[in-house]
Amino acid sequence: MRCGSRNNHEFRFGNALSFSFDIKHAESNSLARVGTINTPHGQIQTPAFIPVGTKATVKSVLPESMKDLGSQALLSNAYHLYLQPGSDILDEAGGLAQFMNWPGPTFTDSGGFQVLSLGVGFKKVLAMDAQTFRRDDVIAGNKDRLAHVDDEGVTFKSHLDGSMHRFTPEVSMQVQHQIGADIMFAFDECTTLHNTRPYQELAMDRTYAWAIRCLDEHKRLTEARVGKPYQALFGVIQGAQYEDLRKKAATDLGSLESNGQSFDGFGIGGALDKGQLGTIVSWVNEILPENKPRHLLGIGAPEDLFVGVENGCDTFDCVLASRIARTSAVYTMEGRFNLSNSRFKRDFTPIDSECDCYTCTHYTRAYMHHVFRGKEIISATLATIHNERFIVRLVDQMRQALLDGNFADMKADFLGRYTHRSGQSRD
Ligand SMILES: [Zn+2]
Repeated sequence: MRCGSRNNHEFRFGNALSFSFDIKHAESNSLARVGTINTPHGQIQTPAFIPVGTKATVKSVLPESMKDLGSQALLSNAYHLYLQPGSDILDEAGGLAQFMNWPGPTFTDSGGFQVLSLGVGFKKVLAMDAQTFRRDDVIAGNKDRLAHVDDEGVTFKSHLDGSMHRFTPEVSMQVQHQIGADIMFAFDECTTLHNTRPYQELAMDRTYAWAIRCLDEHKRLTEARVGKPYQALFGVIQGAQYEDLRKKAATDLGSLESNGQSFDGFGIGGALDKGQLGTIVSWVNEILPENKPRHLLGIGAPEDLFVGVENGCDTFDCVLASRIARTSAVYTMEGRFNLSNSRFKRDFTPIDSECDCYTCTHYTRAYMHHVFRGKEIISATLATIHNERFIVRLVDQMRQALLDGNFADMKADFLGRYTHRSGQSRD
């Protein structure tokens, strides 16, 4: 089956199709599908995990190593790159991929998440569980916040030097066009699970109004920046844990068209209650246009990736794989553990005997234990390579299992081993 999008966003640059999505296989008993996202910088076979290089680098790892471990694309953050080095610098460099020597597709997050992390959620946790945390744990006091939201946009104080900045939907589009990623996200207001219901409604209305402004500015910039590769724009579905809000957002943004411009794909964002992840994602994906790709923002724990794939998400990103690697935590088929633990001092086996990554084929747990205990820089590099390979490969295996018709068996086999041995698969 081929369901390539045939809309006004398919431009051609040279012989390369600029942006399209082809579905090769769709499951009959779930929302899962296998497809290909075509971008000016190459293809992404989906489902796919997209490693995060927030500031145009996956911390401690060379782009060549990311390519070697199977990463098909990288995701950076527009807010961070706007503050440093400045999006104009990336524009002059020829765009994000060229700037960081990454030979493939790129994504940029819009900065909407920072509205939350610097504002209402400043120095707070983005809870994935509505029960564990109280309101005070996730909602920052007004005077403590570095970002303040109004209907027009967000005013925030730089966490780097205290300078004041203003982000609006138009500014976010201008910044993301300068950065030049193949896939960008609309500027949205991200909420927490503990914002009140009236506030969730307000934020969703605002996100919808901002979506229209993003589409208009995106169209203007696409036409003005002649000769640049087409950049796809994804709308972001909010609505927290509320079924009616999530469905309304998917309906409104899924069908939104402004001046002939519609979204090329969608991101599912906001605080996602882990226990309800599959339910929330299915509410949205049953409504969103089938022929456009769907990205689940910030989700990357192994058990959550299965839930995302079987409920119709095509791509995922998460900082977890690299962030925990730098603290010596690694994923294995036996669960997650810390290499700095003294039980690995004389363990001359690989981190994961079933892993085919550079680290596992050349180094032992004993060596990894040694470099972590000695605070050697190589510890971060080797552990990150392993963790990123583990997650990228896991989603690749899900894609193959869907094509082979044995996704359910593969999932049961993985989760049976992963949770059974460690009991610690959750973050
Ligand atoms: Zn490995």
